[in-house]
Amino acid sequence: MPLSFEGTRAIGATLGSGVVMVLREGTELLPYLRRMAAFFRDESCGQCVPCRVGTVRVEELLARAALRGPTADDRALLSDLSQVMRDASICGLGQTATSALDSAVKRRLALVDGGAS
Ligand code: SF4
Repeated sequence: MPLSFEGTRAIGATLGSGVVMVLREGTELLPYLRRMAAFFRDESCGQCVPCRVGTVRVEELLARAALRGPTADDRALLSDLSQVMRDASICGLGQTATSALDSAVKRRLALVDGGAS
């Protein structure tokens, strides 16, 4: 696909800040998603609650999922958090902080049930 705003939009993705991460097929994504969550938690300026609290909650959720395996409740909570952050954050950082994670979950690349629920 072309690395352009139009090209990424056509496949339901976003170009974001233009960072491209290339991972080998079958790579465990959870560690990468946790690093992204930590990045957004650090970068949140804290002005609005959905982003300030949401980025912390997402990072905590991923840490729990890494410890004991992800559950259906994790996916439901993540979906709720993402929706609130997208709808109610003031700027693009909070609105897109969970985009990569949402995408990974939708494609069943991350947070697939670890047996518990
Ligand atoms: S969404 Fe933007 S304004 Fe709100 S806390 Fe995050 S970085 Fe700050």
